[in-house]
Amino acid sequence: MRHINNNFFDIYYYDELSDSDLKSIIIEHEKSYKFFEVFFNRKIDFKLKLFVYDKPEDVGAAYGDNDPCNGFAREPNELHFVYNEKIKCIGNHELAHILSYLYMGRPDSSFIREGFAEFTEEYWVNMINGEPVRKTHYEWAKLYFVSNKKFDIKDVLFDSERFHQEVDTDGCFYTYPLSGAFTRFLVERYGQAKYLDFYRNASKENLTLLYGNYDLILAEFENYVVKEK
Ligand SMILES: [Zn+2]
Repeated sequence: MRHINNNFFDIYYYDELSDSDLKSIIIEHEKSYKFFEVFFNRKIDFKLKLFVYDKPEDVGAAYGDNDPCNGFAREPNELHFVYNEKIKCIGNHELAHILSYLYMGRPDSSFIREGFAEFTEEYWVNMINGEPVRKTHYEWAKLYFVSNKKFDIKDVLFDSERFHQEVDTDGCFYTYPLSGAFTRFLVERYGQAKYLDFYRNASKENLTLLYGNYDLILAEFENYVVKEK
């Protein structure tokens, strides 16, 4: 692997990565830094380590389970991802995990953790008939509500085991964009400050305390997505 570093990043990358790809990776991560500095209203004052691979198998080996995947974050400051002609696994998602754990703590609920990371992306791509289809989280959530729902949000919101079962079943088709849509709904409808209070202590009790009745808030989310989006 080759290595360079600048003010913000330490980058380890595979030998064949072109200079223009390396440049794009740096530009995209600088954009992400700016996004989060605005969101958290603070300077990001540590160096991120980026590990760039040319295939999912290498990411799986770096993760340790040898299960091919496109990217993962490792606390406290590492991002590992594939960047090649077809797969460009960059964006805010993994950095959102790193920064949210650092600045707000790590909630037990996978739905809440993935929801925040997805919220920072807005779009989600699903493969339909072999073609990538890009829609906003709200658009996917709307499809989930008007189609035959395969699972109930109430069952996965605070039950991470159940959430991952559904992720395995639906291949992230609805689970991930739905978590992002729910987060966006809370932020848009009730404000960022309240959402950050919730994330810092993401329990069922705190959801009720901050947003009111559990069933009502989920019903309001459905209504908001189906009628207003
Ligand atoms: Zn994630």
